[in-house]
Amino acid sequence: MIKQSISTFSKILDALPEIVYVGNPILRTKTKRVSIRKGIQIGKQLGKSLLRYRSIAGYGRGLAAPQIGVAQSVFVTYLDNIVHTYINPVIVDRSKKYNYFKELCLSAGIFSADVKRPEWIVMKWTDENAVVHQERFDGFLARLYQHEEAHLRGVVHLDQAEPGTIEFTSTNPLLEKLRTKKT
Ligand SMILES: [Zn+2]
Repeated sequence: MIKQSISTFSKILDALPEIVYVGNPILRTKTKRVSIRKGIQIGKQLGKSLLRYRSIAGYGRGLAAPQIGVAQSVFVTYLDNIVHTYINPVIVDRSKKYNYFKELCLSAGIFSADVKRPEWIVMKWTDENAVVHQERFDGFLARLYQHEEAHLRGVVHLDQAEPGTIEFTSTNPLLEKLRTKKT
């Protein structure tokens, strides 16, 4: 499994030279709010990178602007076979109950980390059609959005890892499930 992960990662290094990795200070920099026009443009760039990543890795649901070296408040997701853009997203409410999930991140190569996050959130953002949304999300979506929003505050999943849970990816990421308890 480790050998396979490294082989995939090696292909990604060649195919996605725009991706920056932990250690690059931009990933620990708080992003700036962006104009809708600029946000849409960054979203398109991010979408292309995420689709290319998915075509190689076979998974990957989100990508945030700092991960391509851009310190602006934009991230994209790939859901329901479409790339969605989130401009200036803000989490305005969150549950007091938490869950756990072993997270991967393009910017951490083959390292995963078990991260505790609120079960649900309410997020406000502007989409690629300049429409403002505010919605509550549960389950996997709450998890995904919190991972991406943290990137915009200069926080990566490794910084939020439960102590002792950073590891070489040893399991199939597509089989990971939300848990109520630590690993
Ligand atoms: Zn990430």
